[in-house]
Amino acid sequence: MTTIAFIGLGNMGNPMAANLVKAGHTVLGFDLVPENLDVAREHGITVAADAASAVKEADVVITMLPAGKHVLSVYDDIAPKAKKGALLIDCSTIDVDSARKAHAIAQKHGHASVDAPVSGGTGGAAAGTLTFMAGGSDEAFARAEPVLKPMAGRIVHCGGDGSGQAAKICNNMILGISMIGVAEAFVLAEKLGLSHQALFDVASTSSGQCWSLTSYCPVPGPVSASPANKDYKPGFAAALMLKDLKLSQEAAQAAGAATPLGAEATQIYGLFNAQGNAGVDFSGIINFLRGKTG
Ligand code: NAD
Repeated sequence: MTTIAFIGLGNMGNPMAANLVKAGHTVLGFDLVPENLDVAREHGITVAADAASAVKEADVVITMLPAGKHVLSVYDDIAPKAKKGALLIDCSTIDVDSARKAHAIAQKHGHASVDAPVSGGTGGAAAGTLTFMAGGSDEAFARAEPVLKPMAGRIVHCGGDGSGQAAKICNNMILGISMIGVAEAFVLAEKLGLSHQALFDVASTSSGQCWSLTSYCPVPGPVSASPANKDYKPGFAAALMLKDLKLSQEAAQAAGAATPLGAEATQIYGLFNAQGNAGVDFSGIINFLRGKTG
């Protein structure tokens, strides 16, 4: 079994690291927040004094951090201290440019590296059913795949360095746009006197079918597990959706891609967040749209 250092034991990192322990790996963990370290100990993770001590003996280092600047600062700290030839896997959702810089830091110090952001949220992290989108060389991916397996439902090798992040922001741009589309259809249906269930029954088996409708329906009732049934408690918070949409727009601008609906979705989620909804599930956007209808 492998010795794995896990840096960033927040909402996602802690349950992910717990699944690595369950699979028989030795996990050395570190986070800046003491409460998260208490939870980690309960999961059987050995808590280290700092990130550098966690990585010293590890064959694999996994990071699950908020944004690109955190990943680069941790990589600058740990890459010189990790075992020669260690495998560094960053599972955070960050911009493609920072992801490529993180690969460069790792490789400069003789390590293999993979960017492997996830989809599936805290539920998928706890259940070990996350989808991993991996970027890196064939050799690095071959080493990463068995490590990711206990945390994964699906693992897709998307291409070279940064490709995992590229896939993640493209996917989440679809998600942000499609959730607004589904929410708009329910708001229109309400105005037209059509019941939520009737629209769901038709659209879920017609050409309007999509994940935002059938797995994450933004009105209570048709899909019992959706956050709409729990007063829009996340799930996937609007702040995280806005973060991912902004990443998609930065990437679109840098690459010269036209994404007009992605830009509009970013603006709508920006307003929704600014109205005090950062901690609300992103499907709560339906209430923002209701508020705008005359
Ligand atoms: P979180 O804020 O709960 O966890 C991040 C953790 O990183 C925090 O506990 C923080 O203390 C720690 N941290 C920050 N700087 C550190 C440092 N220098 N050393 C050690 N620890 C440090 O966030 P999360 O929800 O776990 O998300 C983590 C990443 O996963 C983000 O990039 C997010 O966009 C992505 N993501 C989240 C979800 C979700 O549903 N929450 C889903 C998919 C992807």
